[in-house]
Amino acid sequence: MKVLVPVKRVIDYNVRPRVKADQSGVDLANVKMAMNPFDEISIEEAVRMKEKGLATEIVVVSIGPAQAQETIRVGLAMGADRGILVQTDAAVEPLAVAKILAKIVESEQPGLVIAGKQAIDDDSNATGQMLAALLGWPQGTFASAVAKDGETLKVTREIDGGLQTLALQLPAVVTTDLRLNEPRFASLPNIMKAKKKPIDVKSPADYGVDIEPRLSVVKVAEPKKREAGEKVADVDALIAKLKSVGAI
Ligand code: AMP
Repeated sequence: MKVLVPVKRVIDYNVRPRVKADQSGVDLANVKMAMNPFDEISIEEAVRMKEKGLATEIVVVSIGPAQAQETIRVGLAMGADRGILVQTDAAVEPLAVAKILAKIVESEQPGLVIAGKQAIDDDSNATGQMLAALLGWPQGTFASAVAKDGETLKVTREIDGGLQTLALQLPAVVTTDLRLNEPRFASLPNIMKAKKKPIDVKSPADYGVDIEPRLSVVKVAEPKKREAGEKVADVDALIAKLKSVGAI
């Protein structure tokens, strides 16, 4: 079974994002970028499936600027086999990403797509669901455990108040949650080997997908600064304080 893993290049999660002065978006100039953390979890899961003999080939896809090749290489160093970069400098919304991925699925015919549950830059949490809808495939989102059982895939999902287990008929789309696994660090020999693995470079036009934005950003602003807390002497003082601000 071939597994397709879409990975997005985003601001490194350790970096505190700065809003541009004109409030049109987040400043990306000279900012450290990295693979979306949920996508590392997807790669790890695909590699584990390959190690168990359940997956035969892992194809990593990224839609983004030329530098997204580096992001693909990280996936190749973790154990994926080859990459596809759909190169564009434009911001690509989840619907356009899903349409491009659907075209790639048509030509690659994977048995499974493992995407992240969300990209930590825009927090859209939409691409995997849209892809499943476009393909007419079953979907298991927010997976915290995945197990192949013949032609079905058992996906355990973290939902409010507990866990839900779904049996998906393959081919299917899975999106990964934080507790699915702990991604490995690529070893130096694997980083060297990854340099030789092939990456196909394409454009959105190669797939006939119009990536014009459908959404417009009104304003991006910093979150409100948290006000300093106040220590009170005892419970009575706390109650009096809460009453005085109308909280109780
Ligand atoms: P989102 O719907 O934007 O929150 O992203 C959810 C998941 O879709 C990500 O974790 C990736 O697996 C995939 N994805 C989103 N944008 C891209 C992109 N530009 N290139 C490749 N994969 C993407």
